Amino acid sequence: MMADQEPAELAEFRQNVRRFIAHNLPTSVREKVRRGVLLDRNEIDLWERQLVNQGWFAPHWPERWGGQAMKPLWRMALDEELARNDCPEASPFGTDMVGPMLMQFGDDAQKQFFLPRIVNLEHHWCQGYSEPNAGSDLASLQTRAVREGDDYIVNGSKIWTSGAHYADWMFALVRTGADGKPQEGISFLLINMRTPGISIKPIIGIHGWHLFNQVFLDEVRVPVAHRVGQENMGWTIAKSVLEHERLKLSRVPECHRRLANLKTLAASVMERGQAIAQRDWFKLKLAALEVRLMALEASVLRFRRQALAGGRLGAETGRLKLRGSQLVQAFENLTVDVAGPSSLPYDPAAHLELMEDAPRPWRVATTSARRFMSRGFTIAGGSSEIQHNQLAKQVLGL
Ligand SMILES: Cc1cc2nc3c(=O)[nH]c(=O)nc-3n(C[C@H](O)[C@H](O)[C@H](O)COP(=O)(O)OP(=O)(O)OC[C@H]3O[C@@H](n4cnc5c(N)ncnc54)[C@H](O)[C@@H]3O)c2cc1C
Repeated sequence: MMADQEPAELAEFRQNVRRFIAHNLPTSVREKVRRGVLLDRNEIDLWERQLVNQGWFAPHWPERWGGQAMKPLWRMALDEELARNDCPEASPFGTDMVGPMLMQFGDDAQKQFFLPRIVNLEHHWCQGYSEPNAGSDLASLQTRAVREGDDYIVNGSKIWTSGAHYADWMFALVRTGADGKPQEGISFLLINMRTPGISIKPIIGIHGWHLFNQVFLDEVRVPVAHRVGQENMGWTIAKSVLEHERLKLSRVPECHRRLANLKTLAASVMERGQAIAQRDWFKLKLAALEVRLMALEASVLRFRRQALAGGRLGAETGRLKLRGSQLVQAFENLTVDVAGPSSLPYDPAAHLELMEDAPRPWRVATTSARRFMSRGFTIAGGSSEIQHNQLAKQVLGL
């Protein structure tokens, strides 16, 4: 829903969010986010701590687990205001993936131990699904867990593990059975990242940032009590987590931030004596993107209502992830069109330039890095080709 068509109550809520941001978000952090500069973990933690104190870290969670049972329209407005006002993006692993998964599949001891620690930001999480030889074909994963008394002994390797270098826990898929279909021999484990036998190797991206890792597990002992659900039933749980992940990966709030940045940039770059913002080609392209964003936003709202009502989300969430990731890339591409050839070199030094009239203003200097970053969005959480295949099979029944 567009902000100008909203009920007065919601408009007032948005105002409150903006006031909260103005009081709590340090200017230096805000500037870094606007410029697409990588934040250090401490800056993200301090901001997430503010959200925890305000009850906005997991506002959609039920009250009994420390949330506010915030309605989807409100949650969406909250996310949108946080993104539009250059707040650091909160990691989805704990609040949007492990938390909801444990509420659905965890036993009482797991809920009592983990949920309060997620909502209070005592644990950072990472996702251990992909392996060097198992990405799209995730069911072929080979990291093995063998039962020994009350523990599993885990051996293998996970790759592209975002944020493993600061995670306290990893939710992981491991092979516990060899019979039947590959999906039938997989279990879902929660692994403490401080356990002996875990080592982490950084992978530096094309943008120069350290976001990913390869994680090696060598004789890692994991209590059976940290298995979620039955042995060999991990695939069902993993699919449910992916459905929630894909709802989050619709990236609507991020698109709003990109839209705002793009408009500002287009107003400041001239073409044939006119600001690009006034040129017909730009206005047409921008309008088409805004329409796609509004349509995506309406779909996300529908799924969020379904999730809040406790309904299964289903494979259709793949559509949101597909559209959202493509839309972010379309915004980045148009930004490059507007910035022109001067956006081509990636200039990390210019990230730190505070002057708008510096030789290469930051909006242009960071364009390439942001564009490189967005390339991964059509791969992470399941590639576009895989989303198409799943939508064809599971939603359209083809
Ligand atoms: C930004 C980012 C963050 C990530 N974070 C994590 C994380 O935290 N944890 C984690 O576990 N993983 C993470 N990943 C890994 C991600 O899930 C995998 O990269 C993804 O599932 C694709 O697997 P792959 O890289 O092995 O590519 P492959 O599966 O080898 O695919 C290569 C190409 O072949 C295509 N392809 C494969 N199979 C088919 C098919 N059947 N039909 C048509 N085309 C096909 C794919 O679409 C792709 O274009 C992340 C990836 C990115 C980019």
